[in-house]
Amino acid sequence: MASTKRDYYEVLGVAKNATEEDIKKAYRKLAMKFHPDRNQGDGAKAAEEKFKEAKEAYEMLTDAQKRAAYDQYGHAGVDPNMGAGRGGPGAEGFGGFAEAFGDIFGDIFGGQGGGRRGGGQQVYRGSDLSYAMEITLEEAARGKETQIRIPSWEGCETCGGTGAKPGTSAKTCGSCGGSGTVHMRQGFFSIQQTCPHCHGSGKIIPDPCMACNGQGKVKKQKTLEVKIPAGINEGMRIRSAGNGEPGVNGGPSGDLYIEIRIKQHDIFERDGDDLHCTMPVSMITAALGGNIEVPTLGGKAEIELPEGTQHGKTFRLRGKGIKGVRSSYPGDLYCHIAVETPVKLTEHQKKLLKELDESLKKGGERHSPNAKSWTDRVKDLFK
Ligand SMILES: [Zn+2]
Ligand SMILES: [Zn+2]
Repeated sequence: MASTKRDYYEVLGVAKNATEEDIKKAYRKLAMKFHPDRNQGDGAKAAEEKFKEAKEAYEMLTDAQKRAAYDQYGHAGVDPNMGAGRGGPGAEGFGGFAEAFGDIFGDIFGGQGGGRRGGGQQVYRGSDLSYAMEITLEEAARGKETQIRIPSWEGCETCGGTGAKPGTSAKTCGSCGGSGTVHMRQGFFSIQQTCPHCHGSGKIIPDPCMACNGQGKVKKQKTLEVKIPAGINEGMRIRSAGNGEPGVNGGPSGDLYIEIRIKQHDIFERDGDDLHCTMPVSMITAALGGNIEVPTLGGKAEIELPEGTQHGKTFRLRGKGIKGVRSSYPGDLYCHIAVETPVKLTEHQKKLLKELDESLKKGGERHSPNAKSWTDRVKDLFK
């Protein structure tokens, strides 16, 4: 067989002393001309032969070791079937093509990889799916059992799962010979990649089924029971194994991830296991002190406000926060006091306040705990 082979230099149309750059250039030209994508119908077979011939010549002559062996012994010196540039049986790939074209086609030919060979076809795990679920703070604190509707896939009834229009059938992919993989050479390494034409299925469907767009499966919906653990927090994910997209060629399904979003609460703000709330308290109550009622996630509680409580004072209610998913104890509730200035006063109320003001002024700084340090600081500033 080797004797009928054309000389590699002749195939590429380059001189015996051609540089690697010359060889690449020549191959690029031939590859463009004879690539199966550009040669369909009549003459496809002949073009494919030419393409393979050019590819082999290119692979041999761009490998310094093999080129030396070829220069010395001719075809007898190199056996393309033993080379690193070749894959296993049936893997008649377009290796070297992407390499020769570098960045231009690299993306298209740089397959997704990640697959594993099984029964001659690429087997892929299905993609993971993500589902955003919004819950209230109360639900997050107590946990929740709920149902969600998620996509599921069923075999297409119209084509019986083949993906081909009824009455037609899928053809073996010409690019990979049905293996689903092609081999690309990079230096001394041969890299197995998913066939870019059939995406690893090994089959091409000339007439796809209209019902499933040639997928062989149709997207449906199914109901899934979900248990949300008590204490879950914003951004946490619940994994539901095997409920993602189905695998390819019998590969395992991906997983479903339910990502938790917590709705903004009217009263509480969460910080880890702790809760915070702001309690408006009238100026009078703050001054005189007294019991005030505060809300908690588990009902109402009371705070004893001391006389002369200042704005911004924080009270901690131990254990009235949230017990996190991995916590042994619940967090605390922090009540921040916001002293409220009365508004829309009547003339009479204004008069009373003015009288109060006069009275307080007579008492001097002892009625204003922050005033002295404040005036001192201002004095320092202008010294
Ligand atoms: Zn179908
Ligand atoms: Zn293929």
